[in-house]
Amino acid sequence: MSQSIAVIKGDGIGPEIMDATLRVLEALECGLEYEFVDAGLVALENHGTLIPQASLDAIEKYGVALKGPLTTPIGKGFSSINVQLRRHFDLYANVRPAISFPGTRSRFEDIDMITVRENTEGAYLSDGQEMIDDGNTGISVIKVTRKGSERIVRYAFELAKSSGRKKVTAVHKANIIKTSSGLFLDVAREIAREYPEIEFQEMIVDNACMQLVMNPHQFDVVVTTNLFGDILSDLCAGLVGGLGLAPGANIGEKAAIFEAVHGSAPDIAGKKLANPCALLLAAAQMLDHLGMADKGDAIRRGIRAVLETRRDMVTPDMGGTGTTDTFAQALVEYVQA
Ligand code: NAD
Repeated sequence: MSQSIAVIKGDGIGPEIMDATLRVLEALECGLEYEFVDAGLVALENHGTLIPQASLDAIEKYGVALKGPLTTPIGKGFSSINVQLRRHFDLYANVRPAISFPGTRSRFEDIDMITVRENTEGAYLSDGQEMIDDGNTGISVIKVTRKGSERIVRYAFELAKSSGRKKVTAVHKANIIKTSSGLFLDVAREIAREYPEIEFQEMIVDNACMQLVMNPHQFDVVVTTNLFGDILSDLCAGLVGGLGLAPGANIGEKAAIFEAVHGSAPDIAGKKLANPCALLLAAAQMLDHLGMADKGDAIRRGIRAVLETRRDMVTPDMGGTGTTDTFAQALVEYVQA
């Protein structure tokens, strides 16, 4: 039986990189069927809302969506669509692989790690922000629950187990933020005992930042709370050459949305200059999630091979002289060879 997924092409460079990605998925014969739905500026123009109900229904129906970047209009009354999707589907795990690829400007080689960020609580509460004292004092609440910590830490260990990874590092600030970060660490220690085959390490967030920039190879899976995860996952993207190669997944019990980390890049939209790799790597994560890890690996191997051998086909941001389409073409040729 073929698997159906919802596809949101997105705004700006979204349609260009999505078309490139779908070409590669077709070449891989993944057997996927697509329902194309709108979100973002396109949806606002066509349906008068940033996320039409039909789009939410399609994501709910199939449980999996591949999403291009969305432009959130600047101005009052528009809240981030990505945050809305996260809340609507309770997408509690933000999963961001950071993998080194050849030909990228980065300080390190051979990095292969994943950050697992708790996506629904911590310091990012919509009702936890308050200005008092005539606007001279800002209060932000940090909320960490046992349930939220258990499910994110368990997710990290299960991910490590299923992908043959050896170590999980819980990053915290329990020495100072004894309540919320303390609870997260206590729960991480408890869950770790259920996985004796996987090494467990705990690290205070400031030390983790230093260790990441000095010796990133010591990390395998990093699990942490919302704010620390937001910062650390971008730091890790920087370690492997920036957002052009950074995919991300937002995963919940009932739905999972796979996307590039970068935005809609309006400055290069329509010019065929957009690098499709981040969305392709998100599609590879999606294939892993759908039980097609061999095809996910084929995408990762293909990107490595094309970056190494077909500089004429890769986009200018990677130092090449090609376009979005030639990049996709080179990958199609690789997977069909
Ligand atoms: P951006 O990531 O769109 O662009 C930053 C810079 O990186 C630009 O110079 C752009 O040309 C370049 N760039 C980004 N992706 C690229 C690619 N695939 N290939 C080559 N170059 C690439 O960030 P921004 O300019 O701050 O945001 C633009 C819009 O995107 C905003 O409306 C923002 O809200 C939205 N956004 C959406 C998401 C998402 O949907 N996940 C994430 C971030 C930003």
